[in-house]
Amino acid sequence: MSGPLTLSDRAQALQPSLTLAIAARAKQLRAEGQDICSLSAGEPDFDTPAFIRQAASAALESGQTRYGPVAGEPALREAIAAKLSLENRVPTEAAGVLVTNGGKQALYNLFQVLLGPGDAVLLPSPYWLSYPEIARLAGASVQLIASTAADGFRLDPARLEAAITPASKLLVLNSPGNPTGMVLRRDELEAIAAVLRRHPQVAVVCDEIYEFLLAPGQEHHSFAAIAPDLADRTFIVNGFAKGWAMTGWRIGWLAGPPSVVAAASALQSQSTSNVCSFAQFGALAAISGSRDCVQQMAQEFTRRRQLLVEGLQAMPQFTLLPPEGAFYAFPDVSATGLDSMSFCNRLLDQQGLAVVPGVAFGDDRCIRLSCAAGPDTLHDGLERLQRFLRSL
Ligand code: GLU
Repeated sequence: MSGPLTLSDRAQALQPSLTLAIAARAKQLRAEGQDICSLSAGEPDFDTPAFIRQAASAALESGQTRYGPVAGEPALREAIAAKLSLENRVPTEAAGVLVTNGGKQALYNLFQVLLGPGDAVLLPSPYWLSYPEIARLAGASVQLIASTAADGFRLDPARLEAAITPASKLLVLNSPGNPTGMVLRRDELEAIAAVLRRHPQVAVVCDEIYEFLLAPGQEHHSFAAIAPDLADRTFIVNGFAKGWAMTGWRIGWLAGPPSVVAAASALQSQSTSNVCSFAQFGALAAISGSRDCVQQMAQEFTRRRQLLVEGLQAMPQFTLLPPEGAFYAFPDVSATGLDSMSFCNRLLDQQGLAVVPGVAFGDDRCIRLSCAAGPDTLHDGLERLQRFLRSL
């Protein structure tokens, strides 16, 4: 007689992604006929530009349907290395690039090959909700470096240094940041580099997935360009989802020291193998093509970010630090007396508006709204929010 199946400790400890769960629930409620507005997942509502779709279709038609090299199509790895070298001023060879199933797998692979029990990840908070889970899946613990809206959600180098212990092995930088929209300035990155120079056991991974999405006057700097002397312990994670509106394609990359990238590739060879072969040719067209389509979408996100910020700032119960990049707003709603989960559950039940509770990102006073939706949806969402606040 067999006993009941039990899940591993790893699976039991895992929190599924709340951003994806809320977005899926909003879609399901809508499919059931309910009147739902979703400002939950950060997913551009644009179609992938036609030249990228055509390149993937042509690759499919021409028979690019077989296993490819695990680390990615050589031409795509070359093109990513060239992009990093020229656009981000981070000299990179193709051997230092791994093509992954979205930015998430790049993080997952890196954490798996660098971290284990006894190691700790330094994580500025608020944080994107998958970082701590991916760290724990690698057996590592998480050392949070707190910041609040009152600090501008900025990473204080003194607080970073105070958080470092002998167990600290990897610092996560995410700029432009999800959920706060904070963009690290050059002087801040220099100060972080100065801290890391004093702690040679700490590597850094820079998640640059929102690099093109910047509010007016903001500039994206790659940490790796500012601190080239730390190249042997600096990693970049990025992907096509946000800049090129390619969320469903699942194509990202990990770049960094080739020996670690090779280990991540070996891990990938025993898990998912190569990323979808013909999709990589779409990505190759995207990264080799003009940035006009990226800039057009980024400009539209800037208009929408402004619309969302103005709408939220008109709500006296909220305190909002205007986001400097990405496509989220992260207002403090604690003046309503509700914790973020109760706020979001009631908002969905009573007004059909789906947003993400800040507790999932490490700040229970805030909620996250995405402006990756069209202006009509944003207006609709803001009206629902107003009605909800009036009802409290
Ligand atoms: N990164 C996006 C978000 O935070 C997409 C969903 C996810 O993977 O978490 O909404």
